[in-house]
Amino acid sequence: MYQSLRTNLPREAMGFRDYPFVAIEEDEERDPRRYPSHREDEIFDAVVVCNGHHTEPRVAQIPGINTWKGKQIHSHNYRTPEPFRDQVVILIGSATSAIDISRDIAGVAKEVHIASRSVADETIEKQPGYNNMWLHSMVKDFSHGRSVFFRNGSVVLADVILHCIGYKFHFPFLETNGIVTVMTTVLGLCTSMSSHPIWLRRFPLLGYMEGALFPMFEFQSKWIAGILSNRIALPSQEEMMEDVKAFYSSLEASGTPKRYTHNIADYQPGYEDWLAAECGCPAFEEWRKQMYFVAIENLFERPETYRDEWEDHHLVLQAHEDFRKSP
Ligand SMILES: Cc1cc2nc3c(=O)[nH]c(=O)nc-3n(C[C@H](O)[C@H](O)[C@H](O)COP(=O)(O)OP(=O)(O)OC[C@H]3O[C@@H](n4cnc5c(N)ncnc54)[C@H](O)[C@@H]3O)c2cc1C
Repeated sequence: MYQSLRTNLPREAMGFRDYPFVAIEEDEERDPRRYPSHREDEIFDAVVVCNGHHTEPRVAQIPGINTWKGKQIHSHNYRTPEPFRDQVVILIGSATSAIDISRDIAGVAKEVHIASRSVADETIEKQPGYNNMWLHSMVKDFSHGRSVFFRNGSVVLADVILHCIGYKFHFPFLETNGIVTVMTTVLGLCTSMSSHPIWLRRFPLLGYMEGALFPMFEFQSKWIAGILSNRIALPSQEEMMEDVKAFYSSLEASGTPKRYTHNIADYQPGYEDWLAAECGCPAFEEWRKQMYFVAIENLFERPETYRDEWEDHHLVLQAHEDFRKSP
């Protein structure tokens, strides 16, 4: 923005209805004009951070990848399969984006090779229903031209690497003075009291979970609003820090890598019920909880068909019954 820029609409028209942009004449940090300059300093009690965690791509760090001679893109920039026609494509990652994109591309590509860190080193499996798609263990080395060396011993001459390993947490606008440690995908300060969300007294972070999300975000928003307006009481700082430590100890004891900190799949129903109770709202419906688990299971077990064929008709009926009752 240029330094001389002033708004091109008047304050009265731009303000929120609950938060009008009223000029404050006596405050030297503020611009009292009706069309003020674009910068005004104002003190707030809290900032709710909701910038998402699907914005800053993560790329795999594997020996030789930076000098590999082929093309590399991230799933974030993938749009259509056509640019991959007749190409040999390596997908790194085997979760939801890789499941979708590999199948999209297999229709036009010469070969699709999916590298997964979740399978045994010797794995190399042709994918059922495809004569040009294989699941491999992870890539070991990219150091020679366009060759790709897998841990299972196979070597593929590839044209493109498609990174499907997700995103980094990224808060370029926060000077956190070391209070929050942003590791690749993990926030170092989190409190798990009954597994509740990442929290900071002045930077509540909303939405940094893996799981069934939107209804949970709704409750997280209510919960944060409750905290900020003193309707909901937080435990002391010490109790929360103890809780953080206990949470990470339990991860360590169960052998769960820290990168799964935000994956609440195992305790999602308990977390949702806790959030709802904190907000004074009825607990999440049973059908919603069950539907999520059934959907996730189907996604991995039947990636080709799960979107068009299902067996949880009874849950769908219960959901629609509830929708009819709601005002
Ligand atoms: C491929 C894919 C498929 C998905 N499918 C599903 C699904 O079927 N069902 C489901 O429930 N969830 C799904 N999700 C997850 C879902 O999209 C997210 O959980 C949800 O969008 C998160 O909402 P959010 O508001 O926290 O973040 P976002 O939707 O990511 O919104 C964050 C916003 O903040 C803005 N922003 C970022 N940085 C800054 C900054 N520095 N300054 C200002 N603004 C900034 C961004 O531009 C964006 O508008 C999917 C995600 C992906 C990647």
